[in-house]
Amino acid sequence: MKSIQELSLHPKTTSFFNDLSKKNFINNEWVLADCDEVSEVINPANEEVIATIPISSSEDVNKAVEAAKRALYAYEWRKILPTDRERLLYKMADLIEENADHIAEVITLENGKPFAEARKSEVLGAAKTFRYYAGWCSKIEGETFNISIAQPHSKQNFAFTRREPIGVVAAVIPWNTPFSIAAWKLAPALAAGCTVVLKPSGETPLNSLVLGELIAEAGFPAGVVNIILGNGSTTGNALVSHPGIDKVTFTGSTTTGKAIGKAAIDAITGISLELGGKSPAVVFEDADLDWASQCVTQGIFRNMGQICVSGSRVYIQEKVYDKVMTDITHRAQKMKIGHGFEDNVDLGPMVCKSHLDTVTNYITVGNEEGATLISGGKKIKDKGYFLEPAIFSTTDNNLRVVQEEIFGPVLVGVPFKTIEEAIKLANQTNYGLSSTVFTKDVSKSMRMVDELEAGWVWINSNARSDPHFPLGGFKQSGIGKELGKEGLYAFTKTKAVNIVY
Ligand code: NAD
Repeated sequence: MKSIQELSLHPKTTSFFNDLSKKNFINNEWVLADCDEVSEVINPANEEVIATIPISSSEDVNKAVEAAKRALYAYEWRKILPTDRERLLYKMADLIEENADHIAEVITLENGKPFAEARKSEVLGAAKTFRYYAGWCSKIEGETFNISIAQPHSKQNFAFTRREPIGVVAAVIPWNTPFSIAAWKLAPALAAGCTVVLKPSGETPLNSLVLGELIAEAGFPAGVVNIILGNGSTTGNALVSHPGIDKVTFTGSTTTGKAIGKAAIDAITGISLELGGKSPAVVFEDADLDWASQCVTQGIFRNMGQICVSGSRVYIQEKVYDKVMTDITHRAQKMKIGHGFEDNVDLGPMVCKSHLDTVTNYITVGNEEGATLISGGKKIKDKGYFLEPAIFSTTDNNLRVVQEEIFGPVLVGVPFKTIEEAIKLANQTNYGLSSTVFTKDVSKSMRMVDELEAGWVWINSNARSDPHFPLGGFKQSGIGKELGKEGLYAFTKTKAVNIVY
């Protein structure tokens, strides 16, 4: 792949890369970080260093939180008219669409995913999320209550609740779909009247800087959104444990989520955790098998398997097991692997060297555990973190490759005989994020809906997000929901009021 200077990029992308130095976005301004430590952002398609970012210190974090507090209380963002918030969110959606090529290029350069996918699912998806939540700003409601508290002298109660913004939000996000997830947190938090400090992942911080530019251009008051760059242990930790934070909304691994959850409980801070998954796909023999194979292949390998809801375990009814596994294998082998700006590319590189090593280590583990590697699993190309999609087959549901989240292009097939067995195998996991089922039988699909222990159940389709459709896991996959009305109300606190008159 060509270097950044040789690529013909959008003029805004070129000037963006010409003007990057150690900066955070605080009070709508680019502020130099007060730290000595830096880290490199690497293009995973050619291993070129494309930027250096600060590992912001607790002092930097403090400045961002103070700015968010001032915007909320002193400048009263929490009290601005809902229709004014709505206008800003619509403007943001428009700006994201206008800058779609530029944003998608930045995502492809730092994350590696194909440009077309970055543009469609991440950037246009984020615009859709801002537009969806713009409509909610003026529709946040409380309730009235007929309470039975006796009052003297024939006085009466007027009891009601109202939803108030929860306050200053710390939003900590991962690298796999960074622009979408930033929108999933920012749009509802802003719609609810909160202010935000966003900390993107150290692997993919640059698209959040473009987001900051658009926040300022849209006209959000200073301090309403602040973006702080850095790693997890220094910057992220300082943010989630800052006493000025009222709510932490975190998306990332279950291990990090647990640590953040403990810190939040100590501080009695609100918390939502969107964590890892090891989601099952179940294919019954009566399904449209061609469609099921297509969906299972896309469901695991899209974004190189770096999607939380990826169907990474496929349970296939015994009679059709060989046929479906063969079909999935052929489809996977036909996927075009290349850098994100190549034409018709399906799969880009893994996000970074350490993640490539983690995933290839799991392929070794699968082989050592006795699973049969049917296809793929080899590193390819001299430069860049490219990996062939890997497909295993086993009858042992307890293997590590079946139980642990790999977060890469690794699918494990397991045969089953009966629906009872399928339910048992699918639920035999610590996770509970998503699940997909393929069958033409409505009764069978409803039985699966009843029995599957997962926050999402998709029948005859891949799992795909929509702003109006709540996403959030059961079991070790998280606490709380993102998106939809629940995702909005997660950024509010309920005040119960009784007026005696
Ligand atoms: P990660 O947990 O390593 O990091 C996520 C974010 O947390 C990053 O910004 C990181 O810098 C920060 N962080 C790390 N340690 C921290 C600490 N001690 N305090 C505060 N912040 C800290 O996850 P990742 O590798 O970036 O992302 C992959 C994981 O995200 C996978 O497990 C995947 O399933 C999960 N994920 C879940 C969803 C969902 O909706 N449930 C969506 C996308 C990704």
